[in-house]
Amino acid sequence: MGEAWARLPEAPSPQEKGVLKERIRALLRREEAVLVAHYYVDAELQELADETGGCVADSLEMARFGRDHAAKTLVVAGVRFMGETAKILSPDKRVLMPDLDATCSLDLGCPADEFSAFCDAHPDRTVVVYANTSAAVKARADWMVTSSIGLEIVADLHARGEKILWAPDRHLGGYIQKKTGADMLLWQASCLVHDEFKGIELDLLRGEYPDAKILVHPESPEAVVALADVVGSTTQLIDAAVRMDAKRFIVATDLGILHKMRLAAPGKTFIEAPTAGNSASCKSCAHCPWMAMNGLANLADVLERGHNEIHVDPAVGVCARVPIDRMLDFAAKHKKRVQASGDLAKDAALFSNVGAA
Ligand code: SF4
Repeated sequence: MGEAWARLPEAPSPQEKGVLKERIRALLRREEAVLVAHYYVDAELQELADETGGCVADSLEMARFGRDHAAKTLVVAGVRFMGETAKILSPDKRVLMPDLDATCSLDLGCPADEFSAFCDAHPDRTVVVYANTSAAVKARADWMVTSSIGLEIVADLHARGEKILWAPDRHLGGYIQKKTGADMLLWQASCLVHDEFKGIELDLLRGEYPDAKILVHPESPEAVVALADVVGSTTQLIDAAVRMDAKRFIVATDLGILHKMRLAAPGKTFIEAPTAGNSASCKSCAHCPWMAMNGLANLADVLERGHNEIHVDPAVGVCARVPIDRMLDFAAKHKKRVQASGDLAKDAALFSNVGAA
């Protein structure tokens, strides 16, 4: 990864928050815009999205919701690749973001020119990229997948004898490779938030809470995934928290998801999985610094002034749409929303028509 930095918006006072929220509600009406937020952004933004008829979801659902919504302006509270994906699927809509510099270490870790050269060097492989990539990288791919459906799509490609070139997340790629047995050549980027979860500390925490179930996002290191009761995308982890009988869960993904989990499963307890530096003076906080760039003030500002618009070169957008549509068609063909529980034993039926997973 090259340079990475994040600029946190100044936190408004409680009184300012009320004023800003009212302003945002009015501006959304004035601009006939809809707010589409990711599970990892601040709880206040998630609540605003929900109460104003927008959505709070994973990156795929965000793009799909935006595409299918009648609004002509989408305001995407998330990181840049999410805004780009929304624009690719809705080229005629105006897509705004509170801060265009909100990026992702996976996107940063996979520059389009280097990736294109990597693809050129392996022309015999089917190119599968994760959603967390730029439009230019998607435009070079055969398939785009999210963590909700990547395992099924790779299992299907493997069953058809295809060899895979996978980018950019090495942990998710390694997890899928292990589960499917597919021949996968992996790009070596990672998510700086999930990379910080530690297997040894998680094992110790499990000892403290033996009744707790462990929910893990597959962008986490292998040692963490190995301890999971459920491995899945953000939506799948929330579903699992609702569905499972346990009263206590240890959660290894961005802590922004805890807001939705607590709403969806009241009465249950959610504990953050341990990250690096437990005994150091600077401890990683399991919160994406770029998701944290979305705030009430810059959201209000972008709606007021109409700046921070996402543009995707139309020619790139047309090419990038092909692998996204392929994934959406796959999901539709297999008659599932991209929302398995992530528990492979319990989801066996979902995988029955795509081969062993
Ligand atoms: S949490 Fe990780 S994968 Fe998600 S946007 Fe942040 S850096 Fe990217």
